[in-house]
Amino acid sequence: ASLDRIRELNPTINAFLHVDEEGALATARDVDARRAEGEALGRLAGIPIAIKDNLVMKGVPTTCGSKMLDGWRPPYDATVVTRVREAGMPIVGKTNMDEFAMGSSTEYSAFGATKNPWDVERIPGGSGGGSAAAVAAFMVPLALGSDTGGSIRQPGSVTGTVGAKPTYGAVSRYGLIAMASSLDQVGPVARTVADAAALQEVIGGHDELDSTSLDAPVPHLEDLVNAVGADRIKGMKIGVVEQMMTDGFEPGVRSEFEAAVDRLEAAGAEIVTVSCPSFEYALAAYYLIMPAEVSSNMARFDGMRFGLRAEPESGPITAERVMAESRGQGFGDEVKRRIILGTHVLSAGYFDAYYGSAQKVRTLVQRDLEQAFASVDVLVTPTSPTTAFKFGEKIDDPMAMYLNDLATIPANLAGIPGISVPCGLSEGLPVGFQILAPVHRDDLMYEVAAAVE
Ligand code: GLN
Repeated sequence: ASLDRIRELNPTINAFLHVDEEGALATARDVDARRAEGEALGRLAGIPIAIKDNLVMKGVPTTCGSKMLDGWRPPYDATVVTRVREAGMPIVGKTNMDEFAMGSSTEYSAFGATKNPWDVERIPGGSGGGSAAAVAAFMVPLALGSDTGGSIRQPGSVTGTVGAKPTYGAVSRYGLIAMASSLDQVGPVARTVADAAALQEVIGGHDELDSTSLDAPVPHLEDLVNAVGADRIKGMKIGVVEQMMTDGFEPGVRSEFEAAVDRLEAAGAEIVTVSCPSFEYALAAYYLIMPAEVSSNMARFDGMRFGLRAEPESGPITAERVMAESRGQGFGDEVKRRIILGTHVLSAGYFDAYYGSAQKVRTLVQRDLEQAFASVDVLVTPTSPTTAFKFGEKIDDPMAMYLNDLATIPANLAGIPGISVPCGLSEGLPVGFQILAPVHRDDLMYEVAAAVE
């Protein structure tokens, strides 16, 4: 059914860059056979899943939405892919994304934008717009994304799906093609909070192949969500972040968000306003730290080891000229912009002024959050300042595009878990509700999310 649906809708939506029909059917048949023999399989066995195209899968094309990797077939599986396979989940294909996960609309994909199933004239968010659109259009019930500054949560917000960024280190990054390593985290995309929790349970847990992986047991997230009643919310202290209730957020977004906060209050939660002053500088700090890491991570794409290799049309064929030509042709403008920004902020003369200051702001964000969580259980904000905007609206204005990430970035800077849950419609388009929980408290995040849903 999933493959039929993809065949029918993908030509319009462009959520998938590659469909692995054979692989998916082989897994599905294997699961059926094992079930018939009475083998006890996990709850997600046989449930189809889509994988964002920056997670490597052995022998399956992996492009990161870039011409640079077009035609490359990785020789190994990412740890999350291995875990999904072990759970018996048929992997139906790889989903579209902004090039190397840089963007908020999928318009920066080298293979054309993904359309929002709610309105095909509008963006599905980014960078993980393909995964979100695939789930929103009922092509698959579950997908994997990656979130460096909001790329799971913001697409979730604008497509009416649930998207979670786990605590940094809770899910392995081995086999996730790095964008900004200190911020990147793999997470679930789903239609319900319980589904997202079930998937995080499958992919989470320690991995010795990732040096930043946490050596802590995975909580039973799905059981917990299913057990949540309104009672669990009673007496909980929920903080609304003052800095995320400004004019920068569309009136329709704010009113749907406030209505959801009122519902939590009616269910017995205590609502307080919390101030996180550093949040005003978080976006600026992110757009210095992230490009710095990007410029370093992108250095490996040199035309020698992976994907595209282009030679200069005339003149001598030297290694340096081949690299320059390959990178010139292989990378799109947004990736180049970030490499240039990153090398600039890391350069000797500017390091302290830009990168150094940004790292200090990062510490302040962590401190603000620590202080906030000393008095509240979770923090809440609208996920995204607007609902899905029209194609072309922000593509020529990087600053306007970057502002989409206003509310999602603090979680990445601090390593805390965050989730976006649909909370209503504004002019017929979905609005997302974000819940931020203390580090290692993904369980609490899912509990509150289930109450919003
Ligand atoms: N929109 C953000 C950016 O462009 C988020 C990216 C991400 O989370 N991968 O950097």
